[in-house]
Amino acid sequence: MKILFASSEIFPFAKTGGLGDVGSALPKALNQENKIHALSMMPLYRSIDRQKYAIEPLNYHFTKTLCGIVHPFELYHSKHDENIVFVYNETLCDREAFYGDKSGDYADNALRFGLFCYAIAEYLSREKFDILHLNDWQSGLAANIVKKIYGIEIKTVFTIHNLAYQGIFTKQTMTDLELNWDDFTFLGYEFYDAVNFLKAGIAFSDAVTTVSPTYAREIATAEHGYLLDYFINSNQDKIYGILNGIDIDYFNPAHDSSLSKQYDVTSMDKKESNKKALLKSTGLKGEEKAIFSFVGRLVEQKGVDMLLRALVHLKDMNANFILLGSGEPWLEETLKSMACENIYVKIGYDEDFSKHLYAGSDFLMMPSVYEPCGLNQMIALKYGTLPIVRETGGLKDSVVDFHDYTKKGSRGPGVTYHDNSVFAFLIAISKALSIYSDKKLFHTLKEEAMKKDFSWKNSAREYIKLYRSC
Ligand code: ADP
Repeated sequence: MKILFASSEIFPFAKTGGLGDVGSALPKALNQENKIHALSMMPLYRSIDRQKYAIEPLNYHFTKTLCGIVHPFELYHSKHDENIVFVYNETLCDREAFYGDKSGDYADNALRFGLFCYAIAEYLSREKFDILHLNDWQSGLAANIVKKIYGIEIKTVFTIHNLAYQGIFTKQTMTDLELNWDDFTFLGYEFYDAVNFLKAGIAFSDAVTTVSPTYAREIATAEHGYLLDYFINSNQDKIYGILNGIDIDYFNPAHDSSLSKQYDVTSMDKKESNKKALLKSTGLKGEEKAIFSFVGRLVEQKGVDMLLRALVHLKDMNANFILLGSGEPWLEETLKSMACENIYVKIGYDEDFSKHLYAGSDFLMMPSVYEPCGLNQMIALKYGTLPIVRETGGLKDSVVDFHDYTKKGSRGPGVTYHDNSVFAFLIAISKALSIYSDKKLFHTLKEEAMKKDFSWKNSAREYIKLYRSC
């Protein structure tokens, strides 16, 4: 079975969050299964280091004319990963960032990612695949373009990684991208008289997945549906929740070369060396104190405003806090201003430092308002760091409160809480501190965390089952 997997992010070439991780790990896991070949397609953004990844042209060109303007495309491949095809088109790729900058999203994102979808269709009109797997709004239009505009017969699966990001543009987009006005309806592109790329992905695909079973249920509610809950409900028969995994070759403390000491479940004392190194690099004091960390995008979804309110109390606690992230400028500024003797803040995107946090911390805080899947908690568990999570989306499907933990269950041990409130979060932190003070319990829970299997294998097999049933 041949699968074309289209994603606007694939790690290590492009990543702003979980989409980049999934974009690399899921196709890799699919390719390890019998008689499956997944080829990925992504834009060759300007920021991708062509020399470092030995990216070269394939001598494969095509054009797409839209409203009289000819848009040329060129395909590339990388010796680093032969299962990826990069698409280069100047409008799509030649930018500082992937989607926008501090002043907002790029004004021509509809055209940019419309062109990405046309590139997918052009490629499929030349190469034969059995399944087209699309991811998030950036590739959503392809579900319609491929089948209805190009008349290509192929089964399509569309994955929603985060329903909050829908790619909504004015209806002029229908004309600019030469889309079928017949499909500008409640059942298709139309969303409050605008064009919704993510809705198109749902409407025109044969199957829709989202990244955890709980999130699949949550997006059908008004609370988490971002005005699409009615539409999700009317498409319920083709929506599935498949929990993401993590790439355990990459996120593995036993082989992670960015750590000061590698360790596994039989050498947990070396995790302590990583804690010491982390204290040294951040200038925080007190080896005996617990370290609580946060890694993530600084946006409302991640509960950062709540975390800020909690920090006012946490700074008086006998513990250290380390926060790494980038995102909304006001959250970055406010977080920076919270730095003090026991709070270290790093603003920015830093893959190595994030791994130092997973390895050197005792607890990872995830006070998310909602979380489609969340990978940080699985990475933390793999590194023997206990997650403190709100019971929502994929957090609920991957972490169980230590009181209810069983060796046989698939979820890893941590501290969980229900209410989205500072009070509930602070109680969870104090529960974590009581675990920390019970050395034996803490050690056992860390060992159990590391033993849990969050590899992609099981989820990749669920995707294959779905591809076959389409
Ligand atoms: P998202 O909602 O951002 O997709 P996920 O939990 O699915 O969240 O994935 C987050 C991924 O991005 C993890 O691999 C995490 O370590 C990484 N990440 C997020 N923010 C940063 C950062 N500032 N620096 C380094 N890695 C980060």
